[in-house]
Amino acid sequence: MYQFSRAIYRELAPHILAPPPGATATSNHEQVLRACEVVVERLATDRHYFARPARTLFCDIRPYFPMSSQGRVFQVVSGYMDLAQRFLAEHPVAAYALVSGAPPQCRATTRKGAACQRIPLPHNGYCPSHQHLADTEDRELAAA
Ligand SMILES: [Zn+2]
Repeated sequence: MYQFSRAIYRELAPHILAPPPGATATSNHEQVLRACEVVVERLATDRHYFARPARTLFCDIRPYFPMSSQGRVFQVVSGYMDLAQRFLAEHPVAAYALVSGAPPQCRATTRKGAACQRIPLPHNGYCPSHQHLADTEDRELAAA
């Protein structure tokens, strides 16, 4: 997954603004790279609750770029976020494990209040026993 955050950073690095006086020379670069990593991590581990990752990342990093580069920044961010989401749709379990170092878990909570430990199905993040929760969620979304 980090190939996506690194690719975004590499393409955008030449456009990053110089840091404010007094800050270390690389501070803006570190902020941009970190923001890219945070979004990729969240996408890999929590994509069902992460509605607009490209928009989120763009808003996080745009202060580090001059006005003249904002269009370019948005293009790069949306392009790679599309790729990352496509990759995730195909390899959800691998992507999650790469980022978190652990296998994914079902999104449901058991009757005892603990997180369900079963392996979720990739398309909705619930294990086979908790598929009814995904159906309820879809209806709630449709009703909202
Ligand atoms: Zn479950």
